[in-house]
Amino acid sequence: MALAQGGQRVLLVEAGVGLGGTCLFEGCIPSKIFRDAAARRFEISGAATFGIGTKDGAAAGVDWRVVQARKQHVLAARAGAALTSAHSLPTLEVVFGHARLNGPHRAIVEGSNGSTEVAFDRAILATGSVPKRLPIQGAMLPGVMTSEGLIEIERIPASLVLIGGGPIGVEMASIFTLLGSRVTLLEAAARILEPADEVLARRLKALLEGDGIVIETAVSVDDIRQSDGELQVRYHAEATQRTATGTIVAMAVGRGPNVAGLGLESTRVRYDDRRVYVNGSLETDESGIYATGDLVGQPMFAHWATAQALAVARHLCGQPVVYPRPETNSAVVFSRPELGMSGRTFESAKTDGIPVAVAEYDYRVDARAQISNEKNGWLRIVYRTDNHQIVGVHALIEGASDLMGEAALAIKSGCTLETLAQTIHPHPTLTEAFGAIARSVLSQPVPT
Ligand SMILES: Cc1cc2nc3c(=O)[nH]c(=O)nc-3n(C[C@H](O)[C@H](O)[C@H](O)COP(=O)(O)OP(=O)(O)OC[C@H]3O[C@@H](n4cnc5c(N)ncnc54)[C@H](O)[C@@H]3O)c2cc1C
Repeated sequence: MALAQGGQRVLLVEAGVGLGGTCLFEGCIPSKIFRDAAARRFEISGAATFGIGTKDGAAAGVDWRVVQARKQHVLAARAGAALTSAHSLPTLEVVFGHARLNGPHRAIVEGSNGSTEVAFDRAILATGSVPKRLPIQGAMLPGVMTSEGLIEIERIPASLVLIGGGPIGVEMASIFTLLGSRVTLLEAAARILEPADEVLARRLKALLEGDGIVIETAVSVDDIRQSDGELQVRYHAEATQRTATGTIVAMAVGRGPNVAGLGLESTRVRYDDRRVYVNGSLETDESGIYATGDLVGQPMFAHWATAQALAVARHLCGQPVVYPRPETNSAVVFSRPELGMSGRTFESAKTDGIPVAVAEYDYRVDARAQISNEKNGWLRIVYRTDNHQIVGVHALIEGASDLMGEAALAIKSGCTLETLAQTIHPHPTLTEAFGAIARSVLSQPVPT
């Protein structure tokens, strides 16, 4: 749409049921609608602390049909609004169908009105990613699914085994636990959420375990079997063989580029099972064919895909471009509490040879956190010891998602601890921690 706004003639081909992609139909939006329901249920169970409701602390019931119907309603509204916006652009034509490249300047579009061949000067490939499944016995059994299946699930599973402790697995584990499922989370790496701040990821693991989630790290899943109406996931850690049981098993073991049927073999576009290869201008090895978003690999986030797409659009409209860089990206794991990350972790900065230190704020002393009865929360700021520039912000607290906007701006604009200390943050909000943390560092000798 940005290209059409810039006056270019654009043909947008979409193979799905509406405009919005994975984010709208299978990802960000539906999972956060579930998350909202789960968090409200959690809050109701603790409402007596605030003098609200009965004292028995009974868990609120969940009418899953209402949650799913609400999801459908939001999705339809957003898809409808996207189509209306698209139709308002005179140089944009939207065709619902499947596009397949047929050489470097031609594509075959198969839609409901049959097949048409179109010629183009330039193309942007933004076909996203597809969830992977472990190549193990039992991976295709009924009840074994990926995040796509969880988004469509008809009832809250009594028990759920999640394979994969990345953002999607952790988010789903937290959401379904708060909705009443008994959850086991199995992760192959030594810790969950590998790219996240190590200290906060460890603390989040402890909090999730406190909620009742069984989390096993450094395990290898062997197979899945069906027994007495349940699914048994057999896995091992070192030499010990174990089994996790669930009515549903969901794999969140990563996503690969969605290149099936895209006709890349008719071009010089280079790809493997992890990504389509692009240069610094997001152009593939085929001149004039660009690729953005999940298709080009990690990080796989909607806002990152949008930033890349906007950059390519500006480039093709002949406007100045600042390409998005991973070290200024931000992201949120929508567990409860939320884990927000912006910029670099301490470990990644050290690896890149940047002189950094970390300052930490404990939200136990915080007015907003006390008002909301949030007993666990931390903000960690990674800053350069030579010039006090902020290069990373990491927060584990309910509400961390809304802290990451300021964090991303601080990092992108090269903000220092001094500027942060002088910024007047509103009281009582979780953002006050930014000023408090900066002032506490500046009143102390700088660690070397
Ligand atoms: C469960 C889950 C939760 C998530 N939560 C978040 C979150 O909270 N925040 C966040 O930032 N990210 C989240 N993500 C990630 C986010 O959804 C993706 O990073 C984002 O959607 C990628 O955008 P994209 O444009 O690259 O691809 P997509 O959104 O996947 O869009 C690709 C589009 O291309 C279409 N298409 C594919 N092949 C063809 C073809 N041959 N012809 C025509 N059309 C085709 C598809 O139908 C689709 O509409 C989540 C993902 C999942 C799975």
